[in-house]
Amino acid sequence: MNQYRKYKDQFAQCLDQNRLTIDADLVEIMDHTAHRQVRLERIQFDVDMKEHTNFRLGGRADVMVFPETQEELVALVRFCRNEGIPVFVMGNGSNILVMDEGIEGVVLKLELMRQLDLDDNVMKVGPGTLLKVLSDVALAHSLRGLEFCCGIPGSMGGAIFMNASAYSGSFESCLQSLKVLTPDGRIQELSREELDLSYRSSVLRKKNLIALEATLVLEKGDSQEISHLVAENTRKRTTSQPLESPSAGSTFKRPDRREGEDQQYASALIDATGLKGFVYKGAAVSPKHAGFLIKNQEDCTTKDVIELIALIQERVEEATGYHLEPEVLLVGRDSF
Ligand SMILES: Cc1cc2nc3c(=O)[nH]c(=O)nc-3n(C[C@H](O)[C@H](O)[C@H](O)COP(=O)(O)OP(=O)(O)OC[C@H]3O[C@@H](n4cnc5c(N)ncnc54)[C@H](O)[C@@H]3O)c2cc1C
Repeated sequence: MNQYRKYKDQFAQCLDQNRLTIDADLVEIMDHTAHRQVRLERIQFDVDMKEHTNFRLGGRADVMVFPETQEELVALVRFCRNEGIPVFVMGNGSNILVMDEGIEGVVLKLELMRQLDLDDNVMKVGPGTLLKVLSDVALAHSLRGLEFCCGIPGSMGGAIFMNASAYSGSFESCLQSLKVLTPDGRIQELSREELDLSYRSSVLRKKNLIALEATLVLEKGDSQEISHLVAENTRKRTTSQPLESPSAGSTFKRPDRREGEDQQYASALIDATGLKGFVYKGAAVSPKHAGFLIKNQEDCTTKDVIELIALIQERVEEATGYHLEPEVLLVGRDSF
């Protein structure tokens, strides 16, 4: 059997034999990019990952399922693990670079799990909830603490996995606890301390946990001040970042600070090496922000981006001695 069909056929067979029951009806969802309602099939086969990532790159996923509830997500993960089908959980696809060979097994995309309940200053948030929505709701209720995430194009689950941050803000100050699914199928509630949040890392990443629901505790604030901060953060982002080009945001992490030296940043190191605006095959270093690698041409491949990452690492290390670690996550067949 063609190895690329193996999991697709296995999953389809399980559905046919009713070993997995999932209501595959079409659901109406809001497409936030197109600002309109679209109809979504909850189980899809041979899915083009270009349509599901901000980088607009990558091959096909064997299967993609859109769970709607925690129960459904847990059942799907347990089912796939029992059947030996690989599972990849994704949020909004803004920090991943999918291999040209695609993704083996089942991708669980959590965009329908966008529950958001607000009780006074306590928010219960589903893992697929977009950060922009969180920030908008907080502003509408004069709650402080989420101004930083207004322009990060990710979901709650992806943001905790990566410990996303911007403009001196992060979830570390407002995340109280997180309900997770463990690799052996148990549901646990973890406190903020147990989440082990550090620069671009969390316990989700270290222990392969799946975020199911976050509890955030926010502070009451002044709506004008909050609105001003959101506008200021948006202005900084739109003037400095190539938001018009497909990318996964900052490609590299901030390097560790060397003793006796100022903190260095990947974008400044790349710029100093003369690579800002450098074009490599279909990819490029953004001429607007050297920390962003972008899809520069329609025929750009993930391989082009991977080769450009390696070239930058080599040149920067040669010139400055700093090794740049990718922040973007490589996902899929033969990723390393
Ligand atoms: C233009 C642009 C600007 C950006 N600016 C910033 C910024 O200012 N600060 C910043 O920190 N990042 C930034 N990013 C990167 C990215 O948006 C964040 O890392 C974001 O939090 C990723 O969320 P996501 O839902 O898109 O995750 P995805 O890309 O879908 O997934 C990322 C990882 O999280 C895992 N994951 C997703 N959901 C769950 C879940 N429920 N449980 C367990 N694991 C899960 C996935 O398996 C994957 O490994 C930017 C990206 C772009 C394109």
